[in-house]
Amino acid sequence: MSERNLADRLSTMNESATLTLNARVKQMAAEGKQVFNLTAGELADDTPEYIRAYVSGTLHVNKYTPVAGIPALRSQIADMARSYYGLDWIKPDNVLVTAGAKPALYVSFMALINPGDEVIVPIPAWVSYNKLVELAGGNVVEVPLNEDYDLDVAAIAAHITPKTKVILLNSPQNPTGAIYSKASLIKLAELLKNTGITVISDDIYSKLLYTDTFTAVPTIGFKHIIVISGFSKSQALTGWRIGYAIVDDLPLIKGMTGIISHTMGNAAVPSQMAALAALENNDTPPKETLNKLKVRRTEVLKQLDGIENLRFHTPEGAFYFFLDLRKITKDSAKWCETLLEKTGVALVPGEAFSAPGFARLTFVTDDKTLKTALSKLKAFINSTY
Ligand code: PLP
Repeated sequence: MSERNLADRLSTMNESATLTLNARVKQMAAEGKQVFNLTAGELADDTPEYIRAYVSGTLHVNKYTPVAGIPALRSQIADMARSYYGLDWIKPDNVLVTAGAKPALYVSFMALINPGDEVIVPIPAWVSYNKLVELAGGNVVEVPLNEDYDLDVAAIAAHITPKTKVILLNSPQNPTGAIYSKASLIKLAELLKNTGITVISDDIYSKLLYTDTFTAVPTIGFKHIIVISGFSKSQALTGWRIGYAIVDDLPLIKGMTGIISHTMGNAAVPSQMAALAALENNDTPPKETLNKLKVRRTEVLKQLDGIENLRFHTPEGAFYFFLDLRKITKDSAKWCETLLEKTGVALVPGEAFSAPGFARLTFVTDDKTLKTALSKLKAFINSTY
């Protein structure tokens, strides 16, 4: 019997580790096991009611839209982003609406990368960046962030080669919740100013902040930039699949739109409508959501502070703590597995973020579950060293 011939790219393809783990934990719960799921990459809240109500009144709109998105939506995203970042160049023509931030990233890499080109990814980093780059034929060059999870510009400079096409930035970051300093961003902009290297700035968490001193990457004035964002995290719209790219170059966005026109097509109409509704509010996250996150972040700090041998960065944004387990275990994947088995608490091992020795904890869970999970986690840590 002859075997099916497959594409080489499948040999290194796997499902996103966080999605797989999240599915496993849900399956365990469905089997009646007690689980405390701290692996999610999304808010626990429902999509705000006003967004759902608006969309249900627009279901008569159901044909293809322009590939780059409904003109009113492109225009409102441009207005919001122009004022949020203070960047005059952002016009509706610079906005490409996509089915979530992931396709916006994918099409950016497809439009910028030739086989063998290099993309610098500061690590720890979100699970999908490497795969997205590899799918486009690029090579990932991982450069560690410094101890405070800030950009190490000297290390980035040392890794730039004639093949470097893109530097991927993400602030606030997944998985650490850290933000880059303004000083490091200015240094990086200086380094890149006479190059053709594009900064792709993944700003998906930029509306979930716990600090007043955040400097958004696009405000720095990078010579070539694509801003990636969306409504998944700010409005609990993960399942709706709606995001966008803001591109500083019209021929480039034309090429990206061309790729989308032959592949994914326009983002689903109800999802575009949901984004329009969110923009009536400037895509500001609901106050209750932010308040809940602040309370839960404080709870994690209170419970985990002072545990011997456990280190972590206090997140300035997003909804994650990244726990440094290196003084506790040599194998964080195995450690997370045992934690789940023994206590029902699920964390994502750092291996998923190119950072073995760490684990990511999401703090979106309701207060009672979070408290119980944290006390189990604490007891487990205290018993494992
Ligand atoms: N970028 C980062 C850093 C993320 O954490 C995620 C989702 O977890 C995404 C992009 C993807 O967003 P979306 O669900 O809108 O595709």
